[in-house]
Amino acid sequence: MGKCYTCREVTIDQVRRAVDEAYEETKGLTGGKNASYIPFLAEADPNLFGLCVCLPDGSLVTAGDTKAVFGIESVSKVPTAILAMRQHGAEGVLKKIGANATGLPFNSIMAILLENDSPSTPLVNAGAIAACSLVKPKGDPEAKWNAITDNLAELAGSPLVLLDKLYASESATDFNNRSIAWLLKNYGRIFDDPEMSLDLYTRQCSMGVTCEQMAIMAGTMAADGYNPVTDTQVFDPDLAPKVTSLVTTVGFYQNTGNWLFEAGIPAKSGVGGGILGIMPGLFGIAAFSPPLDEAGNSVKAQAAIKAVMRKLDLNIFSGKRICQLTT
Ligand code: GLU
Repeated sequence: MGKCYTCREVTIDQVRRAVDEAYEETKGLTGGKNASYIPFLAEADPNLFGLCVCLPDGSLVTAGDTKAVFGIESVSKVPTAILAMRQHGAEGVLKKIGANATGLPFNSIMAILLENDSPSTPLVNAGAIAACSLVKPKGDPEAKWNAITDNLAELAGSPLVLLDKLYASESATDFNNRSIAWLLKNYGRIFDDPEMSLDLYTRQCSMGVTCEQMAIMAGTMAADGYNPVTDTQVFDPDLAPKVTSLVTTVGFYQNTGNWLFEAGIPAKSGVGGGILGIMPGLFGIAAFSPPLDEAGNSVKAQAAIKAVMRKLDLNIFSGKRICQLTT
């Protein structure tokens, strides 16, 4: 038998070089605009830019503003999908919410009208509000909120802090999401009080996170639920492929196909400018920069993650596997 031709080794130094080079190459990129429909996000410093990889041994490879705090926004949909699966099992979430792409924008009402029996996936607004409604214990907003924040902290390795101004800003302008919550109620697709579920969703989107915390979350998902920084098994390893499949299917909403085609890594974006990427068994990656493209995805964060993937010759759909990450 010859040497397995699909297997390769990558050194931590190579990852370090790829992150540094990707950061240098993309930091000068212009274009895009901060999210304008949430006043707090419109005022974020557009020059902030960070890139971080979390390796299976818990070490972080960083470049730029990786300690700056920004709004987690839609990336929070992934942790709460995990929480819903921890509490109800993967099958429970599949049955009650679904795991399909909508092919439509994140806040689409049309998607709810088109889908008769499920809010599609916990990674669009409708499904994320439904996921908040599923969090136990039913009917107790404070205990539900504690479950959401505890789960975030376990995944990130440290607590996230609520950005009060973002929460106020978002609560004052979330008319579209309010319509979604009530439409879900109309179709019997929300499993707790709609206003409470909406508020939990708005609050989780308003959590402040750093690029490093986001990379640790991604690293935990990539390591089958094991947080390599805190050395704890956060969720059942069997849930990990389910999490990655949700992210793969709809992480960039209507642009998900183009993203996968070009970048080769399942990733979830948020209008705060963050992107969380999962390379199962290898590493978690996060990038952050506020200016967004037309579909609401960070221009520089997308470019930086793509550059890291290209430099390491990685692609989740490729037959070439990295079987060893060595020092
Ligand atoms: N809180 C935002 C909303 O619901 C999140 C959107 C996003 O990041 O895609 O409108």
